[in-house]
Formats: sequence, C-alpha cells, structure tokens
Amino acid sequence: MNKALANMPATIQIDGSQGEGGGQILRTALSLSMITGQAFELINIRAGRKKPGLMRQHLVCVQASQQISQAYVEGAELHSQRLYFAPQHVQSGKYQFQIGSAGSTTLVFQTLLPALLLQNEASELTISGGTHNPLAPTADFVEHCFLPALEKLGIEVEFKLNKAGFFPIGAGEIQIKIQSWQHRNKLSLLDRGSLQSIDAFVAVLNLSEDAQIAQRELATLNKRLKLNTQQQFHLHGISQGNTAYVKVEHENHVQLFTALGEMRKSAEQIANHLAEKVKLNLASKAVVDEYLADQLLLPLALGQGGEFTAKCISEHTRTQAAMIEKFIDCEIDFIELDKDLFQINVKV
Ligand code: AMP
Repeated sequence: MNKALANMPATIQIDGSQGEGGGQILRTALSLSMITGQAFELINIRAGRKKPGLMRQHLVCVQASQQISQAYVEGAELHSQRLYFAPQHVQSGKYQFQIGSAGSTTLVFQTLLPALLLQNEASELTISGGTHNPLAPTADFVEHCFLPALEKLGIEVEFKLNKAGFFPIGAGEIQIKIQSWQHRNKLSLLDRGSLQSIDAFVAVLNLSEDAQIAQRELATLNKRLKLNTQQQFHLHGISQGNTAYVKVEHENHVQLFTALGEMRKSAEQIANHLAEKVKLNLASKAVVDEYLADQLLLPLALGQGGEFTAKCISEHTRTQAAMIEKFIDCEIDFIELDKDLFQINVKV
C-alpha cells in the first residue's frame, strides 16, 4: 500500500455478499467514501449475482469516482471481487464518462451525485452508455421522479437525455448539471394527498412497428387505468427499444412507474404488467415506491434527515440503510404502520 495512506483513518471493511449482495453496495460505498474521506475495502463484490465481481458498468463507477476524488485504488479490474478505495479531495468540474457498453448511465450518475453536490462549485457530467436498463432507474425515472423528489430537499440538478441507450447497443447519453447544495431542507412525505392525475408516456426507438407498439401499449394502459392524458414521445439514438412510463401525481408527490419492451413479450403484456404496478400503488396509501425508497435514504442522511412512507422495505433499502449507518452518524428506522405501509425515519 502507498506510503501516503499511512495517515488515513482506519479502513472500513465491507463484505459485498451481505444483504442484497449487488452493485448497490459498491456504489454506495464509493459515494460514502468520497463524502467522508474514509477509505474502504470491499470483498466478495456482487457475490450474490450470477456473474460476480465488477462488470463494466461497476468498473466505470469506480473509475469515475477515482477521477473526481483523485483516489488511490486497488483491484479496479473487470471481474475483480476485491476493491480498495482511498479518496483524497473531491473536485467539482466538467467530466465525461463512457461506459462502453449498455451499462446504466443513471447508476454512475447516482454514485457521483452525493459527493459533487457537497462541493462549493457546480459540476457538469456527460455519461454515455445505457439509459433504459432493466434493474436500474431509467432516465425518465431519474428526470421525472428521483430529481423532483430531491428538489424538495433543496437539491438542484438539471438533467437532459441527449440520446437513449437500450441493451445491447447502448450508446445513449445523459448530460447533467449539479449545483452546490445550498439550502438543506428536511423532508416530510408521510401523506401523498389526493390523486391529481395519471398520465402515460410511450416511446419506441428504431423498431419497425413503431406506431403500432406505442398505440397498443397506450390503448392497454388507457383501458386498465383511468388516464388523464396519453402521449407518444420521441427518443434519439442508434439502439433499438421501447419504453413506457406512467406518471401518478398526488398532491404531495409524483411517482413514476416504468417498463421496458422485451423480445417475445407483446405490447399488451408489457402495458398490462405496468398497469398492475400502478394499480398496486394506488391501492396502498404509501407515498413512494420501493425503488425511490432506497434512493432517497442517502440524500436524506446528508441533509436534515426526514421521514416518508413506502409500500414495502426492499432488501436494497435495508442494505442501503446499513451501509449509510456504517459511514455516517445517523439513525434509519423502519416502522410497520399497516399492511403494505411502512414509515421510514432518517434522523441525523
Ligand atoms: P443493484 O441491483 O444493486 O445494482 O441496484 C439497483 C438500483 O436500481 C437500486 O437503487 C434500485 O432502486 C434501482 N432500480 C431498479 N429497478 C428500478 C426501477 N424499475 N425504477 C427505478 N429504480 C430502479
């Protein structure tokens, strides 16, 4: 190990096979390490996944974090199952990162966001790769759900989807401007208020039956949900794909539900599955969905804390809470209020 690291505080040891056992442990460790200046050693990286170790998208998260924090790193190689990461100073600025596959650009963005927010100057990121990936927030989810929720905390981020990137080609691009976080607000989202509107959006990129797929998905969504509006939107890019999202707006919160087209699944199947997710949400009283729940924890812990209700506490959310409590002095509690209704308190 580098001699310059001799004065660093003790390294935090993390077992990547704990809890959810996926890439989130790595990304959260990188974010928290850059924020606190604490080095960490992560072993058994993504041990819970079929192809364990660092995939290209995770490696880009490590390399991007290394670049913005001038970190000393060991084990940053494809398929590596051990990583040592010791950050120095996080530097705001203009950065470009290329995943070089359809790996998720939004997950790279979410890894860097906390550290860049806490700098005195704004930063600009351009990240290319996948923008509409399964098992990750789509660019639409980030733009229309995650960032509007963060805005309530006083976080200002401009987000632009320049090109969409679907598996396997990717080649999408997101462009982001992150302002320095000036006014940190406490979040209280216990009650979503009354339902305002349900709107559906569908896009098809470079598929031969463009209009048909979109129209069939919109027709199915309209049949299943009482839509206020339905709209086909346009994407640019060289990959092929189809995505749909439903925006459910309540008085106090906007929640997005997303779906991706799949080979061998009809437009009706995709839309029916999406409508089902929306109906389940409407039937519960919870404010945020399971995904936003895990994504909100770190911003809350870095700000003034807060509270919100969620339909369920996923393994991701529990693992995220455990990781945050490992690095930051805060308390995250889950209280079961009712069937399908939990309150999450983040006390700082
Ligand atoms: P991991 O599986 O550990 O790589 O983490 C995946 C991350 O993507 C978590 O933060 C999830 O909340 C998020 N995620 C997965 N699926 C969705 C979805 N459909 N919408 C929004 N976020 C998602």
